[in-house]
Amino acid sequence: MPGLHHILDDTLAGHILSEEEALLLLTTKDQAIFDIAKAADKLRAARCGNAVTYVRNQNINITNCCINACGFCGFRRDPGDADSYFHTDEVIRQKVREARERGVTEICAVSGLHPDFTGDSYTGIIRLLHEEAPEVHIHAANPMEVAYGAKKSGITTRKMLERMQAAGLGSLCGTAAEILSDPVRRVICPGKVDTETWVRIIKEAHSLGIATTATIMYGHVETPADIVSHLKILRDIQEETGGFTEFVPLSFIHYDTPLYRQGAARAGATGREDLLMYAVSRLYLHNIDNIQVSWVKHGIKFAQLALLAGANDIGGTMFEESISKGAGARNTDYLDPAEMDRMVTDIGRRLVRRTTLYKAP
Ligand code: SF4
Repeated sequence: MPGLHHILDDTLAGHILSEEEALLLLTTKDQAIFDIAKAADKLRAARCGNAVTYVRNQNINITNCCINACGFCGFRRDPGDADSYFHTDEVIRQKVREARERGVTEICAVSGLHPDFTGDSYTGIIRLLHEEAPEVHIHAANPMEVAYGAKKSGITTRKMLERMQAAGLGSLCGTAAEILSDPVRRVICPGKVDTETWVRIIKEAHSLGIATTATIMYGHVETPADIVSHLKILRDIQEETGGFTEFVPLSFIHYDTPLYRQGAARAGATGREDLLMYAVSRLYLHNIDNIQVSWVKHGIKFAQLALLAGANDIGGTMFEESISKGAGARNTDYLDPAEMDRMVTDIGRRLVRRTTLYKAP
């Protein structure tokens, strides 16, 4: 295999990284990480230009009651727990009205797997959101929720997706991917859909014209090889369907999670791992244009550095974030575009508002 700098030069000249090469980059431990970041930044500039995009969005998590018990999750509660909640339709309507007043173009709705939910619950929620704000893009549910709704209603996942689409679903969340390796999933989220099912549901969504995001949740028990095989699965799907709008690395927030408390996972990714996650994603995923950095996971200062290491999108304003907060992250509720602009102009780039599907609003 050629050396690291040859690989970077070749990639900038159009070479498609092999898995072996991606692994070499991902396991770099010295100053060369900055050379990798620099190459990723060049590729970002060539592919996406100077703009750093963001979306004006609001999260609405309908309930934190969940039948699953993923080890990395600090958000879930059992029904009856003192701090469990399940929003009524009226509360949801009120939140949508607030979202509209804030001028959002996207409502993002994912929730726990409530024991009483059926497929109709999911379509009902999407319909309610869509009726209350027909001009707002509904980015909702993930493959786990699609599988859960389908199972509870005795229908196929494809039918579930069709019903969600008919109810007003704009795009599907590519979360619940975590690490697409079943041995890892058995440790961190044994109750979740397996890799094959996640991939199948994503492809079904794409085949119906429902775009999705793509994610990875890293920094817990996975190895660099697991990360590379995850990226390969995503790259192969994109080659086949072209249905991913963006790739979002999600760094494990460990503080208030069972996995960390039980000593089963490391205390999140290191700075080196975070930086390389963005850079190698940019270099390896030649067919996914948008790499989003999550300021919710990293804070705005590291997010700025990730924008210099391959990322071109800074995600959403949020207005209400509960998932990372539940795991112990701080300051996750809202990021003012003025603050995004300060970080972006500080590195000579330009903040540009976008829609969920990366169009001009
Ligand atoms: S990650 Fe989702 S499915 Fe897993 S326990 Fe948390 S809320 Fe439930």
